[in-house]
Amino acid sequence: MDIENFELKILIVDDEKANRKILKELLHDQAKIIFAKNGEQAIEFAKKHVPDLMLLDVVMPDRSGFEVIEVIKNDPVTKGVSVIFITGLANCSDEEKGFALGGCDYIYKPFNANIVTARIATHLELIQQRKMLDRIAHIDALTGLSNRRKLDITLKHELAAHKREHKPLTVAMLDVDYFKQYNDNYGHGAGDIALKKVAASFREVLNRPRDFVARYGGEEFTIILPDCNEQGAKLVLQKVFEALANKEIKHEFSDVGNLVTMSAGAVIVNCEQSHTVDSVLQEADRLLYQAKHNGRHQVAIDVM
Ligand code: GH3
Ligand code: MG
Ligand code: MG
Repeated sequence: MDIENFELKILIVDDEKANRKILKELLHDQAKIIFAKNGEQAIEFAKKHVPDLMLLDVVMPDRSGFEVIEVIKNDPVTKGVSVIFITGLANCSDEEKGFALGGCDYIYKPFNANIVTARIATHLELIQQRKMLDRIAHIDALTGLSNRRKLDITLKHELAAHKREHKPLTVAMLDVDYFKQYNDNYGHGAGDIALKKVAASFREVLNRPRDFVARYGGEEFTIILPDCNEQGAKLVLQKVFEALANKEIKHEFSDVGNLVTMSAGAVIVNCEQSHTVDSVLQEADRLLYQAKHNGRHQVAIDVM
């Protein structure tokens, strides 16, 4: 994972072709450029591409830039997009309005190319740093999987979506069997390598865009499978077990067999009931305990 360089996307919104062209020439080596010709298209492309930065004209024939930013800032998908106004409305009250609506800069037209480039470069650097911090805050350093903080955010989001969409949702907790024995006998370094292979097994199996896996802590992992019923959950967990078995991580001190294995507790969330992140994780944990108790290297599954 390269956390130093994210490719940034800029959406340039202007009804005049000449303006779009100049801005592209100034910025194309700093970011990927997308264009919109009017307010309606700006909203459509912002939702579709979720750019890092929008350069937004204010006076346009259909919807004004001020209307556009209100839509952008009220949509959870696009509210994090930085917006810089580039406009012929060169007066204090419009500039003040631009900032009040959530713009992060306001540039008067006609503009000086060097000044615009410098100001935008400053914003791009800030965006780059914010993305890097966000990445570090949500990624587990050992495995590169999402961490517990990201799990909490994602599960909250998926529980809300589950209530709206009325589609089954599976949440599972998995834990490596006899991992203390593994560390005690093969050393902590070997333990870390094994955990990276466990992470790789999840990556191989979970391939739908909304499937999610996090390292919950230590040798425990959590997966979220939207639109996945009991049958699907069993299949996915079986595949994860198989992917891990294929790594052939020798464990002579496990009572289950001679390879590293996992146990899993999976809940199928019922949308008729109200559930919280904590209650769902607690139930998955209870089922995981049951799987351990019943002999490990197996799945305990239930509907809640
Ligand atoms: P069970 O089958 O019941 O899950 O037993 P267990 O030994 O796996 O569980 P226990 O909770 O007793 O021990 C977990 C061990 O996981 C403790 C520690 O040695 C190991 N562990 C936790 N985090 C890490 C880590 O980041 N790296 C390494 N190498 N080991 C870790
Ligand atoms: Mg364990
Ligand atoms: Mg554990």
